[in-house]
Amino acid sequence: MYKMMTAGPTQIRENVRMAMSIERGNPDIDSDFCEYYHNVCLNLSKFFNTENEFYILGGEGILGLEAACASLTEKGDRVLVIDNGVYGKGFSDFVKMYGGEVVLYTVDYKNPVDVNKLEQYIKNDSNFKYTTVVHCDTPSGILNDVCSISSMLKKYNIMSVVDSVSASFGEPLSMGDIDILCLGSQKALSAPAGLTMIGVSDIAKKSMEERKTPIASFYANIMTFKSYYEDKWFPYTMPIYDIYALGQALENVMNDREIFERHKKIATAVRNAIFESGLTLYTESGFSNTVTVINVPEGLCADEIVNEIRNKYNILISGSFDIFKGKVLRIGHMGENANLYDVSKTLYALEKTLLNFGFKLNTSIEKAFIKYYYKL
Ligand SMILES: *Cc1c(COP(=O)(O)O)cnc(C)c1O
Repeated sequence: MYKMMTAGPTQIRENVRMAMSIERGNPDIDSDFCEYYHNVCLNLSKFFNTENEFYILGGEGILGLEAACASLTEKGDRVLVIDNGVYGKGFSDFVKMYGGEVVLYTVDYKNPVDVNKLEQYIKNDSNFKYTTVVHCDTPSGILNDVCSISSMLKKYNIMSVVDSVSASFGEPLSMGDIDILCLGSQKALSAPAGLTMIGVSDIAKKSMEERKTPIASFYANIMTFKSYYEDKWFPYTMPIYDIYALGQALENVMNDREIFERHKKIATAVRNAIFESGLTLYTESGFSNTVTVINVPEGLCADEIVNEIRNKYNILISGSFDIFKGKVLRIGHMGENANLYDVSKTLYALEKTLLNFGFKLNTSIEKAFIKYYYKL
């Protein structure tokens, strides 16, 4: 197997894989499972410093985003979609699909949203049911200050839906004033792909309860989970093996007191090494510590670099997609990937590959990384 240094899915620790191999009961009948599920949800509330309830839905991160939009949106609702990245803009599709009226707030993709400028905009037009915003927009690597954004929006009675699928567990976050927080299993949490976790505020629950029209989905209807614990009933059979793995991965994260420090240290050292080598980053400011997005040097081909690193060094890094396809390379130093050894090996492979394709580096990326790692 190659070493997975992609921006998700990430590597999975052995104890998480082992958790999947233990024989489990019937999740529809077994009340132990309901207790376990509930405890994982309580741990999520604890981890995000909130009293808000969390639910785990059987489907990847995208299901969480769709469920948030499906459950909040009624026909004609105005929704402000913050567009400073591919996932940011992508929320429009879900809002429209459920009858919402999208208003795009488009700013540049290289920097985080300026909260003050956004507030100036909101002062002129605050007639929105909710706003969508992405924490780390993974294809370009920017990190939005979703906590400040959601607090600002709360002053204007606007709910916020936050996609923190690729930031959470690598970047610190409290749920605070966020109304729906969307998470995924396969990024910095380093659990197997297949689950989304969503935190839901009381305000969001009330808004869903007070809808005039029913939610136009069953699978993406958050309210179907509302009384699962009291009723000991799930709307569909829960993927029990995935959930036990997720519970173990969450335990790993919660027992790891240095998790955020390590992500920061590794990401900062990677960025410094990239600068020193003469390569450039796509992002100008507001770098997420979960992923580094490197511009493909002029004249070189992203796919060829990714393939050579995979074939010769047995390491998989990411290209990108949508408007970034072929333009950038991405190293996912999040979750289990965020360790000195794997990141060094990855940068060594990148360095040798670029040299092989004729790109002149000012310094060894790997050596510069190690130097900065120990300096920080
Ligand atoms: C990965 C990711 C998602 C979810 O994608 P899945 O393929 O469903 O896991 C959503 N938002 C962001 C920002 C992501 O990086």
